[in-house]
Amino acid sequence: MEGTSMSYGAVLAVRGVVKAFSAARVVMERSPHSVLAGEGATTFAVRNGIEAAETLTDDAKQQFEDWRRQHLEEEGSDHRGESHDTVGVICLDHDGNLCAGTSTSGWKFKHPGRVGDAPVVGSGLYCDSSVGAAVATGDGEEILRTCLSFAVVEFMRGGDSPQLACKKGIARLEETVKRSAAGRSVEEVNRMHDRLTVAVMAMNPKGDIGAASTLGPRNVHRGRPSFPLAIWRKGDPVRVVEETEIP
Ligand code: ASP
Repeated sequence: MEGTSMSYGAVLAVRGVVKAFSAARVVMERSPHSVLAGEGATTFAVRNGIEAAETLTDDAKQQFEDWRRQHLEEEGSDHRGESHDTVGVICLDHDGNLCAGTSTSGWKFKHPGRVGDAPVVGSGLYCDSSVGAAVATGDGEEILRTCLSFAVVEFMRGGDSPQLACKKGIARLEETVKRSAAGRSVEEVNRMHDRLTVAVMAMNPKGDIGAASTLGPRNVHRGRPSFPLAIWRKGDPVRVVEETEIP
């Protein structure tokens, strides 16, 4: 999403193209559409110069086969992997133009056809150069129903710093999850909350940044209580910081 012209392009459920960001960009720049899905997205991308390539790695294939062997008997159960792989990027140029992008292979071992938050405008990403940009990662279903990135940008529009806006966005998402759990037992609600893995980061046109996540001592995944992000400003080396280090 390019935040000055407010243009947006996305490809969903795309196979045979590794460079999904580039495919989304050609949809944005060279088609009259915002979103292309499946085979049509691949055909359009390849016709517009994006390299066709096998996306399934041997490692991923092996993981899938191991998983299928283990879970064949338990169809329909929630085998949500704990690994999240969305890459979210926000860029600001010297003239104050912001852009944002996300790319993911999505929830591991999902049902065919499932689309997560990453390519959905307002959920996985949102960008308005006059206000700010936000990108999200984590449990897509929760991000989608909260319109998390849009909410964070709207908090900035209302005057919040990127950091406060991210915190408010995460608080709203946690509230949404709680509401959807109405009627369930306290233990079940706590279990849902413990598993919740969502992070969001944001930037405003001044280059101030913010980040917040649902991670904490209560719901640590893979031993990490916070969410790492990389910051690069021209002339400086890349810095990797934990979200909790942002004031
Ligand atoms: N947000 C992605 C999705 O739900 C998953 C992830 O971040 O890994 O598809």
